[in-house]
Amino acid sequence: MYITTLPKVDLHRHLELCVRHSTIRELAPQFQIDLPNEESFKERFLITQPMKDLNSVLNKFLDTQKFWSSTHLIERLAFEACEDAFRQDGIRILELRYAPTFIRQGHDHLSFEEIHQAIVKGVNRAEKEFPMAVGIICIIQRILPVKEAEAVTQFAIDHKETFIGLDLADNEVGFDSKPFAPFFLAAKKNGLGITVHSGEANVPNAPRYVREAIDYLGAQRIGHGVQIYRDPAVMEYVKEQNVILELCPTSNWLTQAIPDLTQHPFKKLKDFGIKTTINTDDPGIFNIDLNHEYKWLHEVLGLSVFDLEQCSDWAAKASFIDFNKKSKVWPRPIFS
Ligand SMILES: [Zn+2]
Repeated sequence: MYITTLPKVDLHRHLELCVRHSTIRELAPQFQIDLPNEESFKERFLITQPMKDLNSVLNKFLDTQKFWSSTHLIERLAFEACEDAFRQDGIRILELRYAPTFIRQGHDHLSFEEIHQAIVKGVNRAEKEFPMAVGIICIIQRILPVKEAEAVTQFAIDHKETFIGLDLADNEVGFDSKPFAPFFLAAKKNGLGITVHSGEANVPNAPRYVREAIDYLGAQRIGHGVQIYRDPAVMEYVKEQNVILELCPTSNWLTQAIPDLTQHPFKKLKDFGIKTTINTDDPGIFNIDLNHEYKWLHEVLGLSVFDLEQCSDWAAKASFIDFNKKSKVWPRPIFS
């Protein structure tokens, strides 16, 4: 189909949760994970129906975390993430994000430095092999103590040559943006791009959280932000501030951010004049790819190929990857 051949951009993809399925099957026995059949694989590693309880989902994250256990494997998984993005989806501009604290949580024999250098090695190898530009975003987990956030920020700043941006992820409820403001300010001063997971879950204050991410953290892009459709004033604010939304439709359905895929406000937000981009979030665990999201927007929400390309061009422009580097792999001019 025509859509599969479109050059694409993914700005919102979690490295830890896009492990290639055949690699999971291959590695599982080494990690004492028994996968006798397809059903057990699905049960243990995939989320394909809207989540009911958080615990079962967390277990899937922790099982996937097990594979990030050595620099050798980390390099391989990072390379494969890029290779799959290029070969399956035709992604030319790829931003992968990861939380150093999440990988180390399962493997405390590894330092942030070792983890990061292994990822950079895998990504560099992929960039040599495929005509794509890849950037790495560092994630702060907002549920961890603020001290940890400070250490992660410093790590990102110390490696600003190999990180393109800083992100804040995890549950927003009860974890205000304000305490993180000095870290994001410091990151911005050091030239890192700022994107923040916000306005994802369907909670009463979701639109307000998005406004705070822009005001306190200087977010240029919002991870999800889907809930702002419920508040015209915040929609207006996002548009006026020229903040980009990294929308991830299937993810929003599976996490129950929206009740039904056909009710996703993607088109409403785009028609309002907000720059919407199309992303996968956790393609491995959600069993999707970017083609899937494009096709769904095209076939169900009625976005034309022109609309899809417009979203891709916005994403190419909004990417934190160096302008010359991304321009080389993008088929159309990127207007700076
Ligand atoms: Zn995300």
